[in-house]
Amino acid sequence: MTLAAASPASPGAAGCGEPAVAKERGQREVFCGLTGIVWLHRKIQDAFFLVVGSRTCAHLLQSAAGVMIFAEPRFATAIIEERDLAGLADANEALEQIVGTLLARRPDIRMLFLVGSCPSEVIKLDLAEAARRLTRRHLPQVRVLHYSGSGIETTFTEGEDACLAALVPELPAARDDAPALMVVGALAEVVEDQFRRLFAAMGIGPVGFLPPRLSTDLPAVGPGTRFLMAQPFLAGTARALEARGARLVPAPFPLGAEGTTLWLRAAADDWGVTPRAFHEATAFGEQRARRALSARRERLHGLRVGFFPDSQLEVPLARFLARELGMVPTEIGTPYLHRDHMAPEVALLPPGTRIVEGQHVENQLDRFRAERPDLTVCGLGLANPLEAEGLATKWSIELVFSPIQGYEQAGDLAELFVRPLARRARLEV
Ligand code: SF4
Repeated sequence: MTLAAASPASPGAAGCGEPAVAKERGQREVFCGLTGIVWLHRKIQDAFFLVVGSRTCAHLLQSAAGVMIFAEPRFATAIIEERDLAGLADANEALEQIVGTLLARRPDIRMLFLVGSCPSEVIKLDLAEAARRLTRRHLPQVRVLHYSGSGIETTFTEGEDACLAALVPELPAARDDAPALMVVGALAEVVEDQFRRLFAAMGIGPVGFLPPRLSTDLPAVGPGTRFLMAQPFLAGTARALEARGARLVPAPFPLGAEGTTLWLRAAADDWGVTPRAFHEATAFGEQRARRALSARRERLHGLRVGFFPDSQLEVPLARFLARELGMVPTEIGTPYLHRDHMAPEVALLPPGTRIVEGQHVENQLDRFRAERPDLTVCGLGLANPLEAEGLATKWSIELVFSPIQGYEQAGDLAELFVRPLARRARLEV
């Protein structure tokens, strides 16, 4: 299958029923990769994320984390002061002092991430070298790694990709070439446990998760490793795993009843699980998910939905809404479209669906104002202004922070789209 290029203004240009993919460049309304810290620090329970940045970065984390900042979180910002910028202080020395104080105060920390930001990149602070130096000083208690979450290099969920890619060189080498499965992408613990049970029921194992709950529990990797991506925004991590001999199992992403079944089946087929064993392991979960969806389908069927670019989850979510709930995608904005990883998803979209990679926010707003979808999925900065213009909106950030993958969560995922429409209907009375 090939993806045709077309102008966003000419949705029909793809022809032959293929989705039309257009690229757009201009002003963007997206988060930077630092925001990934908000969910990654909760997932890896013995890791600390130290942003080396400015007060802007600290404010961003504070507003993205919301009430979490009062729960002694495992992230902070080492703020680059004017003295550092003027070269009056040795930024490396200052960083070493901060890390020393931090680790003395938090002896439970086993892994420290130095997270690069726009300011640290602009002044060319060498965090790779700093991480090596600090590792030498603090091993064996603490390993220090680094990655970039800057707005120059990363958009929102790409911060997780950069973090996991930094973890890949740390994974222990598998002892032999025996088959093993790795699930890649941060998942809520409840979702991870459900997948563990489903794989066990099919006889697939051993199964490792990246990232793990503890940094001391990294899954092994080697030529026998097959990996299944649980999230669509992990292109760099996938490349790093392939460089270590692991092999990608292509699949749609585990959103909705159908998506979860296709995702599990890709692993099962690769593993040689019999159709009967697969059915016995998954039929109950799939039926429950379909029942949970049918009630919501009545509310959503036939309604038009449009996505602003945010997390790279937009294409799989639109596929779920179209195929399992009967919604009609108008425009699917995505910050980045990895053609290979997204091919199984794109193939399932309704013919002629318009995908726009990148953003020119003013042009995109004009298109949404002209089309007026029944539901617009967008960031917090656009939601209230669009509501004031009479468009119903769904905040996209919730789709990243909530457990939405797997059978048990399919109903909750649909409910996230029902809720803003139901609220609107109540207020209209
Ligand atoms: S990393 Fe860059 S985009 Fe992100 S908060 Fe800091 S300055 Fe802003």
